[in-house]
Amino acid sequence: MELLYTQRMMPAHKRMALVAHDNKKADLIAWAKNRSEDLKFHHLFATGTTGYLLSSAIALPIKCLLSGPMGGDQQLGALIAEGEIDVLIFFWDPLDAVPHDPDVKALLRLAAVWNIPVATNKSTANFLMDSELMTEESAIEIPDYAGYLAARIKSMD
Ligand code: PGA
Repeated sequence: MELLYTQRMMPAHKRMALVAHDNKKADLIAWAKNRSEDLKFHHLFATGTTGYLLSSAIALPIKCLLSGPMGGDQQLGALIAEGEIDVLIFFWDPLDAVPHDPDVKALLRLAAVWNIPVATNKSTANFLMDSELMTEESAIEIPDYAGYLAARIKSMD
C-alpha cells in the first residue's frame, strides 16, 4: 500500500524528549548542563529517572514521565505518534543489554514513522541544537494518517 504524506508544523519552542540509559546518564547530564541556555527555549520531557536526575542538575522545568523500563519509553512513543513531541534526544547504550529493549525499539521506530529529528549520541545532539531550525517554526513531512486509514478501510471491502 502506497503511503501518502502530509506536513505538520513544529513550533519554534520544541517539545523535546530527553532519555538516557543508565551508563549514559552522566553524559546526558553533562551535555544538558552545557546546553542549558539552549534548552531553556524549549519544553522538556524525560523518562522518570533521567528526568529526576536532570531536574537536579539543570534548573529548568521538565515533565517527567514513568521510568523507561516501567512504561516511560512507551509513553514517549505515544506522544510522538500523537504529534506532541518534536525532537528526541536519546543517549542509548550500545554496549549493554536492557530488559526493556522492545520498548526502546518501539520508541525509535515511532520516531522514524513520524519523522521527528532524533539524536542517539552527543555529536548528533549538538548538530541538532546548533541547527537554526531548532528555534524556528519548521515543517516536517509526516504520514497522512487520514489517507492511510481510508486506503486500509477500502482494501478491506
Ligand atoms: P529512565 O529510563 O530515565 O527511567 O532510566 C530510560 C530508559 O532506560 O529508557
